[in-house]
Amino acid sequence: MSSLPLIEPDTALFLDFDGTLADLAPRPELVYVEPELVGTLRALHTALGGALAIVSGRTVAELDNFLSPLVLPAAGVHGAEVRDSAGRRFEMPAPNLGGMLARLEDLALAHPALRIERKPMALAVHYRSAPELEQLVRSQVAEALKDMSGVEMLHGKMVVEVKPAGVTKGSAIENFMREAPFAGRKPVFAGDDVTDEDGFVMVNKLGGLGVLVGQRATAATVSVNNPAALRLWLGHSARALGAPAGQGDAPASTPAL
Ligand SMILES: [Mg+2]
Repeated sequence: MSSLPLIEPDTALFLDFDGTLADLAPRPELVYVEPELVGTLRALHTALGGALAIVSGRTVAELDNFLSPLVLPAAGVHGAEVRDSAGRRFEMPAPNLGGMLARLEDLALAHPALRIERKPMALAVHYRSAPELEQLVRSQVAEALKDMSGVEMLHGKMVVEVKPAGVTKGSAIENFMREAPFAGRKPVFAGDDVTDEDGFVMVNKLGGLGVLVGQRATAATVSVNNPAALRLWLGHSARALGAPAGQGDAPASTPAL
């Protein structure tokens, strides 16, 4: 893979959250956000003229919670809900997931290590505490999907999700790129999961750059080893862009990449 260039002033920056900005935790609610990261994101958002968005499987409300007091443009639930740069909210119609939820709750009763997460437009089954249940979860979700339309299964790290069909991180990035302040810029997307591959394919199509956090077969052009390295790159880029040092910024003595 090529080496990772610093973020340039004409970049439109798209960032996944879990496993990319923040280290993964045993449970999704236990994820910790370093205060320095919030300062770095604020500085980059300013330096890029507002062209920075979070693109995540989490809800926008959860992202706000983690990044508080910073409020960024964001695509949540893989793009099923969006807050644009002007603060306007857009949501896809919520699919009827009642039957799926009942089935998954039965499954979780039989296997307490499973954790069912209800989102506004999606359901997730986390099996991080019991990786051996992966095939069971996948087959149960696939079976339930046979009777449903307009939704599809998405398989991420230790999680299976059911979300509106056709909504991906790629389509979320494409939509952001149609409007100011993103339009006309070079898109850069950083993500860690297989669900981020749609985003990498999209930024490639738009002449941009995909940054994989981790190592595996990918459509991304460059990679870093872990979220800590990604955060270092963001902090170094923010300083190279001449972003004003905000509260909580990383110290200037952080070594260059
Ligand atoms: Mg991720």
